[in-house]
Amino acid sequence: LPIIALLGRPNVGKSSLFNRLVRQNKAITHDLPGVTRDRIYGEATEDEVRFAVIDTGGMLPDAAEHDGGGMDRSVFQQAVEALDEADVALFVVDGRDGMTGLDQAVSEKIRASGKPVLLVVNKVDGPEQEAKALADFHALGFEIAPVSAAHGYGLSDLRLRVAELARPFVQPAPADGPELGLKLCMLGRPNAGKSSLVNALVGEARQIVSDIAGTTRDSVDIGFEKDGRRYTFVDTAGVRRRAVITDHLEKLSVFRALSSSKRADVTILVLDAVQGLSHQDKRLIAYLAEQRTPFMVAVNKVDLVHKTRMDELRAAYEEALRICAHVPVLYVSALTGAGTGKILSLAEEIRRECVIRIGTGQLNRAMAEAITKHQPPVIKRRRAKFYYLTQADEDPPMFVFFVNDSELVTSAYGKYLEGQLRKLLGIRKAPLAAVFRSSHE
Ligand code: GDP
Repeated sequence: LPIIALLGRPNVGKSSLFNRLVRQNKAITHDLPGVTRDRIYGEATEDEVRFAVIDTGGMLPDAAEHDGGGMDRSVFQQAVEALDEADVALFVVDGRDGMTGLDQAVSEKIRASGKPVLLVVNKVDGPEQEAKALADFHALGFEIAPVSAAHGYGLSDLRLRVAELARPFVQPAPADGPELGLKLCMLGRPNAGKSSLVNALVGEARQIVSDIAGTTRDSVDIGFEKDGRRYTFVDTAGVRRRAVITDHLEKLSVFRALSSSKRADVTILVLDAVQGLSHQDKRLIAYLAEQRTPFMVAVNKVDLVHKTRMDELRAAYEEALRICAHVPVLYVSALTGAGTGKILSLAEEIRRECVIRIGTGQLNRAMAEAITKHQPPVIKRRRAKFYYLTQADEDPPMFVFFVNDSELVTSAYGKYLEGQLRKLLGIRKAPLAAVFRSSHE
């Protein structure tokens, strides 16, 4: 996906512009509550070009400090990192304020990057304001797009132009044919050991990624064979090591990795046993669970952790995974190879369960057995009557119970039935959805 970064000093309207670029196209946005307070990464499609937009606005510290053109390091750090990740820079300025010292400084950074730049002059509410608002900015020599994020002026032109600038960066969709075998994706915080695990699994013979700046977003698939079966680690570029990992960069790389996880059959969430379970790790778990992503957790670097500490950690992982108790946890060391031998067979198992198809006869026997064992509760003197069960979807499997009135199925009873389905149908490690629908018979 081509990446468009919104850059500029605080308060010029980057976030509103972001919302305009992303939402008006019914974009899919990755909302990771708690990871960042603001939504920073969204996707949009315009003129058949799909692109990602990164907003750096929400992450800037207190805006007031930066007014008046002081050279604040953190502002630059943010901008430089987003710029580094981006294909195209949207440099946003405020047409009412005119050019400030900070704008000037940001512009130099952007220019130095050599990336395509569109200078977006915001807060221009109509054509009559253009001459005055743009006057200061012509000197920068960038292509200019006057807009009003608040009122909509110039936005459709802007979107078309952004799509045009993004188009050369569209990468041909990777061939996801059967020749890739089982598609795996490594997800996790920088330094958790993703690359080392890939290396351990693929074998030392293969060099993964070279550490050349600017190669980060190239999608690299690594295919290999094991015991006559084919596997591919998809989009491993996001897995590569970085010398310096800042908070901001970490968020970006995790966001990026999440879209790779959509391309994979099975995701391996790599957690660092030395660091312990971080807030971000918990958020990732919650996100994957909510998206019904087929995944396992590989707790890595166990060679560095004492047994007593390991027991504490086990308890913490178990607690964090309570919301998705089906997710298997492996304790591994990429360094010594301990535990890594189980990763591929576990992935195969998860995959098999994900694409399972279960016949009507077996489904309805399972439903009858579960209900006989434990009757639905009586709610306001009524009790749910179950008619039949069907499998509505696979990968991951979804089952629909047809009931006289779905309101009568309490969440506890729903959970019970889901548990029974897992047990009776043998779906233990894959995500599974049980849905209840009212029906007349
Ligand atoms: P990535 O950013 O998630 O890809 O992490 P890397 O694979 O680059 O690993 C980060 C650092 O942790 C490197 O210095 C690795 O050598 C080290 N490392 C990775 N796995 C292990 C492990 O199982 N045990 C130990 N002791 N070190 C590890």
